[in-house]
Amino acid sequence: MSLLPDMPPCAALIAGEWTPTPHQLSVEAPGTGKVLTEIARCQAAQVEEAVAAARQAFDGRLGGHSREWHAWSARRRGEWLFSFAAVIEANAETLAALECADTGKPISQARGDIAACARYFRFYAGAADKLHGETIPFDNDYAVMTLREPFGVCAQIIPWNYPAQIFGRCVAAALAAGNTVVLKPAEEACLSVLRLAQLAREHGLPPGVLNVIPGLGSEAGAALAAHSRIDHLSFTGSPATGTLVAQSAAAHHVPVTLELGGKSPQVLFADADMDAVLAAVVRGIVQNAGQTCSAGSRLLIEASCFDAVLSRLAARFSELRCDVGENDPDCGPLINARQRATLEERLAAARADGVRVLAEGRLAEQAPAGGHFVVPQVLVDIPDGHAVLSEELFGPVLAVQRFDNEDEAVRLANATDFGLCAGVWTRDGGRQLRLAKRIRSGQVFVNNYGAAGGIELPFGGVGRSGHGREKGFEGLKSYTRIKTVAIRHG
Ligand code: NAD
Repeated sequence: MSLLPDMPPCAALIAGEWTPTPHQLSVEAPGTGKVLTEIARCQAAQVEEAVAAARQAFDGRLGGHSREWHAWSARRRGEWLFSFAAVIEANAETLAALECADTGKPISQARGDIAACARYFRFYAGAADKLHGETIPFDNDYAVMTLREPFGVCAQIIPWNYPAQIFGRCVAAALAAGNTVVLKPAEEACLSVLRLAQLAREHGLPPGVLNVIPGLGSEAGAALAAHSRIDHLSFTGSPATGTLVAQSAAAHHVPVTLELGGKSPQVLFADADMDAVLAAVVRGIVQNAGQTCSAGSRLLIEASCFDAVLSRLAARFSELRCDVGENDPDCGPLINARQRATLEERLAAARADGVRVLAEGRLAEQAPAGGHFVVPQVLVDIPDGHAVLSEELFGPVLAVQRFDNEDEAVRLANATDFGLCAGVWTRDGGRQLRLAKRIRSGQVFVNNYGAAGGIELPFGGVGRSGHGREKGFEGLKSYTRIKTVAIRHG
């Protein structure tokens, strides 16, 4: 069997057909730095076609197959999503192999991502026919109701760190709500997304309901965000690009959901269960080589247990091993040479400012020389206000600080413009609740971090981490808008 069976086509999926593009892009394997395959490079012309196809599929105006999606009831959409979850599971191993080779992440994490993708389809399948409006008491000669309607054409621009999971999160919710989709995956990693789209088409999703246009952000992404005929834009990626796409969408009054980065704190009090904390802290920053928007990249430790925790943390980090994803290491490579160079520059600048590396992992002897590896590391002695405490590094780097009391813990936790996730570790019930309320963040996890990926839990940020919610039932509502109908019956 080839290493990568079922390689998706080098083309865009538009109106149900695989459409080759005049230009292509090379995709690199992060573990070796070698070219893995070619993908289509969509530009403005393909974006135009994809939006037109999604528009036609949604509007159902032009006859032929385009009326098909319009006729699907919520129950039927749910049934399709249920059955597609089973298709994903039947193809899980080949999808995981693609995700592992393309993103460089450890194979066990890639398998978890594919399982999560299937769960998104199953969750939104069950939710599709449970989304409803309300009736509103008003004057006696009126009947007033709200209808929850799909937006129409949903544009989705997604990143390279969790292609399959974010495909599940965005596409399943948008389709469950009755929208059609034009999805621009990231140029760095999109093979699982292309294969999932291929499977969806083969599994009977009507043409034009899901269109996938691989390409560069500055070309396909920019053209999609600026398109006047999209009805909603969901973006996951960096704050800088999020600002750009939100500005483009604003020109046409297109509503936007932004899932941007984070600099999430884990706050550790001395009364916590230390074994559980240490396991979650290591996982929270090393998973996907720290290239996770919700990575727990700051650890705040109560002074009375600071030294003891540091020595246990140092021991754990020095055991961590970096290697190619296929060997299922603790930590895989970064996505590309650019991300590695940026991270190494920032770490060198931090060391020059007096920041100390307390402990670091090691590279496996057999790891290929061309891989973009940065070993996991713990930073201490960080001056107040230093950039490594406030900027997203997007690598396996944990910044540690000490606090003396609850107020100081809250001050440090909130000392960033981001607000995506936070972990609080304490057995004190009052303190759990106080910190959950006082930390400025879209999610607060108490005595856990990330609730095992809980796809059922609404997810999103405050401040520079973005706005709007994906995941859970809130995520489904995000792909609908309310229409008010007021009937005067006399
Ligand atoms: P990015 O935000 O530039 O890319 C995300 C997506 O946006 C990709 O599909 C990309 O093609 C597209 N894009 C890029 N420029 C665009 C434009 N002008 N218009 C429309 N779409 C555009 O992120 P990146 O350059 O891949 O990574 C840079 C940094 O972003 C990382 O170091 C990390 O800090 C952050 N990041 C965050 C997440 C997250 O999940 N929050 C994911 C990836 C990257």
